[in-house]
Amino acid sequence: MTKEKTLNDYTPEEIEKARHTILRRNNYYQEHKEEKATYNQEHKEEIREQHQQYYQDNKKEMLEHDHQYYQEHKSEKTEHQHQYDQEHRNEKQQYHREHKDEKREYDRQWRETHPEASKILHQNNAAKRKNVEGTFSLEEWTHKLEEYDNKCAYCNTKTEDTPERFLTVDHATPLTRGGTNYIDNLVPACFQCNMKKSTMTSKEFFEGIDADKEEGVLVRRYISEHLEEAVQLFEKYKIGFQEEVQSNDSQEK
Ligand SMILES: [Zn+2]
Repeated sequence: MTKEKTLNDYTPEEIEKARHTILRRNNYYQEHKEEKATYNQEHKEEIREQHQQYYQDNKKEMLEHDHQYYQEHKSEKTEHQHQYDQEHRNEKQQYHREHKDEKREYDRQWRETHPEASKILHQNNAAKRKNVEGTFSLEEWTHKLEEYDNKCAYCNTKTEDTPERFLTVDHATPLTRGGTNYIDNLVPACFQCNMKKSTMTSKEFFEGIDADKEEGVLVRRYISEHLEEAVQLFEKYKIGFQEEVQSNDSQEK
């Protein structure tokens, strides 16, 4: 980098010359100050247009200059932030340590007052951690719950009737098995079913449901959507569902 010149770097002659130039300029300005003001006032519009024209003509270069400046200095800013973070890391950690319980309590209360939103946040964060594709919104999830009439997609239980079977977000194809976190892959499932299903896909879970148990009564919804598949399953497990499917069908019509 070139060192900036100080007064000591100039010869006395150069300094004297510069002083004269400045004085001359100042005098000229003082003498013509009023004239200039009058001129500006009279040519206000014209001057404004000139400025606008200048901006139009040089817009591209000006923007490019700004952009270039940003590009050149962007790492400095992050460097500055980085330095700030480094310097305040301990303070920050200490603050978190000291307010750990408050934060936990705050989070708990938030989850309690925002049950569905907190489920979504949890799922989206988990998916992000696992590098799984997809996010979904509260709106999409609410719509999904309505679609299922707030019932478990597997055992058809309504949560209001049995609070211990509260509804959770289930990935029909689990994230660990290549499922996405998009709404298409999500169904409401009661806590028990979700636990039992574990890393099974919906299909595997249906196939594995114990026919003797209440859960063996497959979801009406699933039946109507996957009629052929369901009939095959029923035959496989020798459950007398065929009549029930048909009677359900006729009931709905
Ligand atoms: Zn269930």
